[in-house]
Amino acid sequence: MRIVLFGPPGAGKGTQAQRIAAAYGIPHISTGDMLRQAVAAGSPLGLQVQEILERGHLVPDELIGEVIADRISQPDAAGGFLLDGFPRTVPQVAILERALGAKQLDRVVMLVVPDAVVEARILGRAQASAGVEGGAARADDRIETIRERLRVYKQQTEPVAEVYRQKGLLAEVDGTGTIDEVFGLVIGILGGARG
Ligand code: AMP
Repeated sequence: MRIVLFGPPGAGKGTQAQRIAAAYGIPHISTGDMLRQAVAAGSPLGLQVQEILERGHLVPDELIGEVIADRISQPDAAGGFLLDGFPRTVPQVAILERALGAKQLDRVVMLVVPDAVVEARILGRAQASAGVEGGAARADDRIETIRERLRVYKQQTEPVAEVYRQKGLLAEVDGTGTIDEVFGLVIGILGGARG
């Protein structure tokens, strides 16, 4: 099963991604996690992208394309994977197609959450992390960054939905329910968990 999951920041994408990947026994590939790990490790990639992440902007398509092509060619991704956070721009759709070669995606799931709910959720997360001294605050959860990430999502990532709709791959899921409710909807669309 090759799945793409996307939705606005604060849609609960990361949580759903982990559960879906576990249900299907496929790796959860989060470009955001990979980039944050690179920043934390101070690797050449991390140094290149640190400031971009802090600003809530997107890293260049070609750069993230190399990261994802390398990751999906690993042996653990041979039987399928769940992509969380990629593709995030229309050009990245083509980059993914090239990296997949003869393989096809099975489904693209978009979590749909109204703006007001998204803002409330991610501002809550930012305030919670800011309140925990020495806690694992995400640098890109600073409030001024959040609105920028939402703006970037609308401008650059929402058009990706249309591309996949035209390919007949898009499934829109109401992301406003509880974690269990949303997970149930996704599994319903994907056709039930396999071992
Ligand atoms: P996420 O955890 O998916 O929200 O990603 C965190 C940050 O990593 C984003 O705000 C971007 O700066 C960067 N990022 C993650 N995935 C991509 C991507 N596919 N293209 C460009 N930038 C990305």
